[in-house]
Amino acid sequence: MTPEKELEYRNALTMIVTAGQVILTHGGSALDAVTEAVRLLEENPLFNAGKGAVFTHNGTNELDASIMDGATLNAGAIAGVSHIRNPILAARAVMEHSNHVMFIGEGAETFARSQNIEMVEPDFYYTDARYEQLQRALLDQGVMLDHDAASLAVRNPQGDPIDPDKKFGTVGAVAIDNDGNLAAATSTGGMTNKQAGRVGDSPIIGAGCYANNRTVAVSATGTGEMFMRAVAAYDVSALMEYAGLSLEEAANRVVMEKLPAIDGRGGLIAVDSQGNVALPFNSEGMYRGVGRVGQPVEVDIYR
Ligand code: ASP
Repeated sequence: MTPEKELEYRNALTMIVTAGQVILTHGGSALDAVTEAVRLLEENPLFNAGKGAVFTHNGTNELDASIMDGATLNAGAIAGVSHIRNPILAARAVMEHSNHVMFIGEGAETFARSQNIEMVEPDFYYTDARYEQLQRALLDQGVMLDHDAASLAVRNPQGDPIDPDKKFGTVGAVAIDNDGNLAAATSTGGMTNKQAGRVGDSPIIGAGCYANNRTVAVSATGTGEMFMRAVAAYDVSALMEYAGLSLEEAANRVVMEKLPAIDGRGGLIAVDSQGNVALPFNSEGMYRGVGRVGQPVEVDIYR
């Protein structure tokens, strides 16, 4: 990655974490902070969610998102949508204005329309970088994970630790507010070259997103199938609640032991009820940032 490109990512992350921080500084809720952070990540074409989402095998975009309120254990999710500008706003509307937790496809879009959520034509999500990424995946006949270098080493003549195209993943945010409430939000285009109709962990409560005031808020990114089989986000919470592990121990157990044992690659971001933060990943890199009220925002990419 060129220094310019790296700066672009760092600036975007800093701006977005700061936006969440400002909400919390002014007494806003964790739920509002994670919603706004993820909405901004969706708006930014650098990241694999909303505009800039990856392509399916068919050259379409199918987006998934979820949100969970740790205070009430309320949750909302949508999957397989292709006309919603900000999937996270639709997921939040599902949580707050429906009797259900999850909507898919056309039904999700009909619901979003009824909530006056902004709709777009599918070409809204298009970026050249993602389209080229699909073309390379089609040549490889593989499914590409954004932060994954393993499958790309062959085509990475410079021998960079991570292919420049592959570091932008699913987006997520977790937060704790002044009242001690936790929230988590996750949004994604999924995996490049995924089969049409495939849904990963991101919109599955407990797999790619989980929040519970008693324990932790978690948002995950990685090989979705393995995160679903590991019930990864909930497992962090369960290890804390039932096995008495600290956040760091629980997050590391899941990301560094349980997921690799079934070939799961990726990472997660988490904040616990005491405000401790964990950002473990077993992939080459993970774009991440932390903002505490009254302190400078920290962002990072590599290990
Ligand atoms: N977890 C996402 C999925 O499987 C992909 C990612 O995190 O990059 O859909």
